[in-house]
Amino acid sequence: MSAGVEDRLRGALGAENVKTAPEDLSVYSFDAYSEGKLPTAVVIPCDTRQVSAIVKIAREFEEPIIARGAGTGLCGGAVSVEGGGIIVSFARMHRLLELDAANRRAHVQPGLVNLQLSTHVAGAKLFYAPDPASQRSSTIGGNIATNAGGPHCLSYGTTVNHVLGLEIVDERGDVFTTDVDDAGYDVTAALVGSEGTLGIVTSAWVRLLRLPEATRVWLAAFSDIESASETVSAIIGAGILPTALEMMDSVIVSAVEQAFHAGYPTDAAAVLLIENAGFEDEMDGCEAAMQTIATQHGALSWRSARTQAERDALLAGRKGAVGAIGRIAPNYYTQDVTVPRSALPKALRAVEAAARENDLVVGNVFHAGDGNLHPLLVYDKRDRRQVGAVLATGDAILRAAIDLGGTISGEHGIGYEKRDAMTRVYGTEDLAAMARVRDVFDPQRTRNPEKIFPSGTRCIELSVPA
Ligand SMILES: Cc1cc2nc3c(=O)[nH]c(=O)nc-3n(C[C@H](O)[C@H](O)[C@H](O)COP(=O)(O)OP(=O)(O)OC[C@H]3O[C@@H](n4cnc5c(N)ncnc54)[C@H](O)[C@@H]3O)c2cc1C
Repeated sequence: MSAGVEDRLRGALGAENVKTAPEDLSVYSFDAYSEGKLPTAVVIPCDTRQVSAIVKIAREFEEPIIARGAGTGLCGGAVSVEGGGIIVSFARMHRLLELDAANRRAHVQPGLVNLQLSTHVAGAKLFYAPDPASQRSSTIGGNIATNAGGPHCLSYGTTVNHVLGLEIVDERGDVFTTDVDDAGYDVTAALVGSEGTLGIVTSAWVRLLRLPEATRVWLAAFSDIESASETVSAIIGAGILPTALEMMDSVIVSAVEQAFHAGYPTDAAAVLLIENAGFEDEMDGCEAAMQTIATQHGALSWRSARTQAERDALLAGRKGAVGAIGRIAPNYYTQDVTVPRSALPKALRAVEAAARENDLVVGNVFHAGDGNLHPLLVYDKRDRRQVGAVLATGDAILRAAIDLGGTISGEHGIGYEKRDAMTRVYGTEDLAAMARVRDVFDPQRTRNPEKIFPSGTRCIELSVPA
């Protein structure tokens, strides 16, 4: 890196907040999906003013900018793909700036960890609804950039439904704010899910919800995954919308039980974990209706968690499912696709067939109510055959989801991983329209380059002549 840019960054942030030693940089060359290349520098600002200064210096020295939260992303979004660039870590911008309990909203910095927000506001009987399984470590900034989902998003909606306004540092280093109540274009919604390609989120106003009076958790066990999937469609088709409706197959249940002893039945082929929250007097009726549907679809058993400890154990098992996979193999790859809910049985059959064909073990743990599948392909990356099998299986699952009328990502985003798959679901005109939006915010394409758009294309190449 040129000494000029290093000196300028150190002058703006203090030497201890600018990392350039290779051993420091290597820590930031990974996310939960991939290994990227070494960036030029990693900078750790403490406020919006410093972020603005970083962007201005980066612009002067023609260095791209990559924002980074906790690095739990599953599509290679927070890493430098080509090498170089300045990674902006929000590890020091992690505060709850203001709790406005009367209006049920909070003003937060982007580095605040998702679960900490709910912990901070619990005293006011409020909580933040989007709850990715990574919520113990992923940040609000990363959640906004990826429009994160989670079990509760079935009834509460994904992150975009909970962001009320943003403070953004743009590509010139200027600061602007958005508010969902503003007349005109809903710029807030355009920025949510933009994976750090349109601007850097330096603070956000988020919606808080009132803690429910009652929460119940149930577990239904099935002898086959089709019956469990059909139960999901039937529950929602009957007009019942529980707060979470998650499915796990026997591979996942066995790993979770080994790791956490959550209390899941290990003799079932599929388990539905259902949570509902609301008023106490609605709960029994809701349970009776769902239990009837599950029984009609062949449920082997139906269990209601009786105590808070039992509820916590069942939910913690689901949230820890991905980590529990370490009990089966040293590595895993999570595919993330969405299909119409009614196509779940077909999609699961396609997952099973693809894994069988490539001689791989697959576990399914997913947001069944949203039709959002997460097949976990377990493997050992030291075995080249298995690495090839994972790539082939992941691709077959992607193809099957598209053929079933679904799409290539439910919540993890596109990032680097799936940018080439964008051409499978979008035509040139669609991609060109997106590229024009990007051009407005980032004409030089210096915000998180090599992400979202297919490799080898520049925005200009996607532009459709008038
Ligand atoms: C075990 C596990 C379970 C998971 N479960 C879920 C789940 O249930 N639902 C789900 O949606 N995801 C899930 N994920 C994926 C991941 O946790 C989410 O995508 C999360 O939102 C990423 O947050 P992060 O803070 O780690 O962001 P990072 O990984 O650091 O970054 C993700 C993207 O956000 C951008 N970004 C980060 N901060 C900013 C900012 N301030 N301004 C602009 N752009 C920014 C980055 O450039 C990058 O493109 C899971 C991951 C793991 C490892």
